[in-house]
Amino acid sequence: MKNFGFYIQPDSQIDFDNNNRNLAALVSQREPSFDWCIGCGTCTATCTAGNFTGFNFRKVALLVHRGENEQALQEVEKCMLCGKCNLACPRGVNTRNVVASIQKIFSRYQNLVY
Ligand code: SF4
Ligand code: SF4
Repeated sequence: MKNFGFYIQPDSQIDFDNNNRNLAALVSQREPSFDWCIGCGTCTATCTAGNFTGFNFRKVALLVHRGENEQALQEVEKCMLCGKCNLACPRGVNTRNVVASIQKIFSRYQNLVY
């Protein structure tokens, strides 16, 4: 193929009608502060695991809200549940409990979130 010096990005449309958004609803039920997240990224900037694994809570929250659950599961396993991000969040989101809830929901209700 001819090299034009640029390439076309793969399609990244989010199909909200087909994505399974049960996980987002279940997480909000267990930890209502999940809905307060504005995606500012402060938690990610202070994340202990992020220094070693590239873990990104902001990305996880986005994936869960979009219903991209499989990708979210791969990410949450990297969290050390240290709770440092809880102290940094300007919106008071209980980030640690959100991650713990996602892990629990995946282990107990896999049939609902896939
Ligand atoms: S710091 Fe709080 S509001 Fe900002 S992205 Fe993290 S959880 Fe969301
Ligand atoms: S609880 Fe998880 S997301 Fe929060 S700072 Fe610790 S390792 Fe990072």
